[in-house]
Amino acid sequence: MELLKGVHVIETYATTTLLVDDRLVLVDTSADERPAKILDYLAKLKVTPRDLSTIFITHTHPDHVSGLAAIKEDSPAKVAAHRIEAEFITRRKTYDGPPGVQRHPGTQVDVLLEDGQMYDGLKVVFAPGHTRGSIALLDETRSLLIAGDSANNEAGLHPMDDRYNVDAKQHRESIKKIATLHFENAIFGHGVPIQGGASQKIAELAKRL
Ligand SMILES: [Zn+2]
Repeated sequence: MELLKGVHVIETYATTTLLVDDRLVLVDTSADERPAKILDYLAKLKVTPRDLSTIFITHTHPDHVSGLAAIKEDSPAKVAAHRIEAEFITRRKTYDGPPGVQRHPGTQVDVLLEDGQMYDGLKVVFAPGHTRGSIALLDETRSLLIAGDSANNEAGLHPMDDRYNVDAKQHRESIKKIATLHFENAIFGHGVPIQGGASQKIAELAKRL
């Protein structure tokens, strides 16, 4: 569904986001190694993976990275991830946090992101703790945070379940950091998007941590 003009939320597990401007940007690639739902959604908009300029991966958990290799097979898009997370996406390093051994096909990461960096229209917010190199992405022109798994909105706003966090304390520090930013709208890897007052709601969560 189109949440805001040019912002498409594809209801995969976990959520995939597609931004449509003068370029096409995908954020995360779902748990499916053959990501039919994403490809069908692109087809519905009459575009293909060949039209993507960037595929951002918020973190290396299987429900965010598994479709990457299949989408990249047919795409010149640059793959962008935090430099820490890139080691796990390529599988140069074995991920040492939950949920354990990775099975996704290792994929080259072309753009190594740093906190605060702007790339292809999005600002990188380094938000470690869920994984070691997790990021959220801020689209300042739309006042939109693409949160990845930096918070969970499945039954109200919460931190992610600590069974899946590599560092529970650092994950909460990252939520507090995100709460200092301003954005009206937010999309989560897990849970419903927020339209209106999103950073205020995250600030309320941060106060309870
Ligand atoms: Zn995750």
